[in-house]
Order: sequence, then C-alpha cells, then structure tokens
Amino acid sequence: MAILEIVLEGDPRLRQKATKIRQVDDSLRKLAQDMHETMLDAPGVGLAAPQVGVPRRLIVVHVPEGYEEEDAPGLTLTLVNPEIVKAQGRELGLEGCLSIPGWVGEVPRFDAVTVKALNLDNRDVRIKAHGYAARVLQHEIDHLDGILFVDRVEDKSTLQRVPEEPERHEEEARDSAA
Ligand code: ZN
Repeated sequence: MAILEIVLEGDPRLRQKATKIRQVDDSLRKLAQDMHETMLDAPGVGLAAPQVGVPRRLIVVHVPEGYEEEDAPGLTLTLVNPEIVKAQGRELGLEGCLSIPGWVGEVPRFDAVTVKALNLDNRDVRIKAHGYAARVLQHEIDHLDGILFVDRVEDKSTLQRVPEEPERHEEEARDSAA
C-alpha cells in the first residue's frame, strides 16, 4: 500500500482521455488499493486514475453512510471502465476536487444514475445511485474523459474558495473533495 501523489489542475495529464482497461490484473488491483488509500488519506470521497497520473479508466469511491445526506447509505466502490447507461433528474450541488484544492462550485448533475462497469474480479456490475453518491460517480467518470468540475459550473459566481484546514482532525475531515 502506498499513498500516491495527486496531480493538480494545470497538469495536462488531467485533460487526457483515459484508455479502456482490457484485463484486470494484479498490477491494476494494486493500483486500486493504493488509490483507495490515497483517497482516504486526502481525505476525499472519490478518486480517478488520471488524478494519480495513470491514464486508465479506473475509479474508486468512498461515500460514508449519512455523508452530505441524512439517511443515505454508504457507498464504497472500485470500478473499471465505468459508463453511465441510464440517468435522470437534475440537481445543483456544491463540489470540490482533490486536484483543485481549496475550491468549490455549484455543479448541475443527474440526480440518479445507473453505471455499468467491471469489478476487480473481471465481472460485469451495475450500480444504481442517487443524490450525492450519483454526483460523486459522475464527477469521477468525468475525470476519465479529461473533464473537471469547474468546466461544468454554469454560474461562475458560485465558484468560491474554502479555507484549507491546517491540521486534519478525523472527526472534521468532511471536505467534499473528489
Ligand atoms: Zn475530482
């Protein structure tokens, strides 16, 4: 396990279209594990491989239970070649990104999505999510196409700086960065 370096906005690697993964192998599983660790350490609720400089279609998600939405179930996922196959509704919500530290903005997203992907056992999976979890999935899948949340902010006046915490406290580690 290792904490990977997160690529920041301005780096061209964030703007590449990531390539499809043909075969899930041990090196990909190791990368997924390191990405989980990196995401939890940051802390964030999602991370895409291009954010650690790897141009492949792999994302990890960890939304704790009740995070941002009361009574919402938790969601922890590793998805290979994720693809939105169904989407409905539209909702505005604040988003941040581990690659754009210190900024949030209001982004319109589908309220509910169904995502098709492979899991780390090379099996097809379908994930249904709504609300905040659906937002995180859309944000991470965007990264695979070189799209950042700031590209999707329609009302630029909602883009604002948030103070960065000088010290991280476990119980306060609730930045919505993905
Ligand atoms: Zn992001």
